[in-house]
Amino acid sequence: MINGIMRIGIYGGTFAPVHNGHVKAAEEFFRQMELDLLYIIPAAVPPHKQLDANDDPRHRLKMCELAFGDMERVFVSDIEIMRKGPSYTVDTLRALAGEDRRLFLLMGTDMMLTLDRWREPEEIFRLCYPIYMRRENDPIIEGRIVAKNKEYLAKYGKIVRRVPMEFVDVSSTEVRDRVRAGESIEDAVPAAVAHYIKENGLYV
Ligand code: ATP
Repeated sequence: MINGIMRIGIYGGTFAPVHNGHVKAAEEFFRQMELDLLYIIPAAVPPHKQLDANDDPRHRLKMCELAFGDMERVFVSDIEIMRKGPSYTVDTLRALAGEDRRLFLLMGTDMMLTLDRWREPEEIFRLCYPIYMRRENDPIIEGRIVAKNKEYLAKYGKIVRRVPMEFVDVSSTEVRDRVRAGESIEDAVPAAVAHYIKENGLYV
């Protein structure tokens, strides 16, 4: 809490399934942005992503609860899943915004570079402080980020700040592939999530 303003983080994603990289990213985001609260928000149907036909958002929600359940002041929200249909960030920000709060929205580099093509970008920049994290150190991408931030500053009066972090080398795609191949995922996801995937026969 700074000057009576609550600092609230928002970390959305497909989380199909949630993995150790997501957990680490959430921890770093929380710590470095000095958040008071962090919402983990699994998307219903991400506008930019085609999910498996048998995807069940309730499983993704449950696995997030298992992964983040014992982190203090971190809450898994079903706001996007309950809304059904495509999840638009601007709707989520509107639902969480308030005079006494400052919203920080975490995203990856690809999202940072295309933020102006999301629905109602000016509203997104008005309602929150977007934050990006990146894995690679490619100078070409660095140049694109700098250029994009100049554009954002001119258009929306804000830049997208970086939260530096070490990436855990894992993706949900890799986890699903490993499950399908009958390989262990114990080192890639929290133990309770590995157990849940097995119990419910997910991703086989
Ligand atoms: P998929 O492999 O299905 O594309 P994913 O592992 O990228 O999934 P998402 O649910 O799409 O998982 O990711 C949500 C957010 O977490 C995105 O902003 C993404 O950039 C970020 N993210 C994904 N993997 C990692 C990781 N290993 N470390 C930190 N952040 C990550």
